[in-house]
Amino acid sequence: MNRGEIKKTLAGRGLAPSRKRGQNFLASPGIARAIVDAAGASPAGTVIEFGPGLGALTMPLAEAAGRVIAFELDSGIVAWHQEKKILPENVELRHQDMLKADLAALAQETGGRLTIAANLPYSVSSPLLFKLLDNRDLVGRAVLMLQKEVAERLTAAPASRNYSILSVLFASSARIKTVMRVGPENFHPRPKVDSAVVRIEFMTREEREEKLPPHEFRELARTVKAAFAQRRKTLVNCLKAAKLVHDRAAGEKLLSGLGLDPAVRAERLGVEDFVRLALALRREATDAAPAR
Ligand code: SAM
Repeated sequence: MNRGEIKKTLAGRGLAPSRKRGQNFLASPGIARAIVDAAGASPAGTVIEFGPGLGALTMPLAEAAGRVIAFELDSGIVAWHQEKKILPENVELRHQDMLKADLAALAQETGGRLTIAANLPYSVSSPLLFKLLDNRDLVGRAVLMLQKEVAERLTAAPASRNYSILSVLFASSARIKTVMRVGPENFHPRPKVDSAVVRIEFMTREEREEKLPPHEFRELARTVKAAFAQRRKTLVNCLKAAKLVHDRAAGEKLLSGLGLDPAVRAERLGVEDFVRLALALRREATDAAPAR
């Protein structure tokens, strides 16, 4: 649909685009096709779509993929689809919150690691990205339209402006390519910010272990979140504030033991440093635990 058709469809139904639901509908078939191509959808496979809206992405996905399972939260949109029946038969629309989607059950149902495509509502993109990280062994690929700043965070290098929790956790788990920048004129209504499409290829466990020492994702995530909790503080102070080290002296000793400057800030550490730190904190916690 182009912008005029989207407006007409919404008006005819008395639907106003909901800002709360992040409803900026894609009005560019070319960009939708680029997302489908980047997802590598094929007739033998299933694609999970989050937030299908009026179907701008769902329709070309259904042409390329064998099956599409689409999660939409908005009752008005779901009712519109039920009435208009514009979606092809290989699309299954589920009236459900994407943040509550059971990815393990979906992977079992579809017989393998998931392929996900979405033009994400911006308010939900951060929790959704953390959900994907939490389930990194269940997801093969995700092609996502994100707010440009969030997309930049995913690929930011240490010491750069956008380097953050997401940068470290994605560096530990995936390879990421920016597919394209997308301006506000490609949506209705126009968002206030620029967007970008990224392709996230989650590494397999074997690929991860070639790159990094074996570690628990939750321990890494806890360490990184603590380290970035107060960006202006030194790492040792952040670890102390999160009670991950007993006191300042213990924190400084631990960092020195890893060859890190005790006055370093989190933004200077690469993903390997964070993994080594998470492993050292685990050893520290195990040593400190009372013997039984
Ligand atoms: N895919 C459509 C497109 O490209 O035009 C719509 C994209 S729009 C940015 C986001 C869509 O996600 C809307 O249809 C909105 O109702 C839906 N949505 C918002 N929050 C959601 C949630 N938590 N779970 C599922 N769908 C959600």
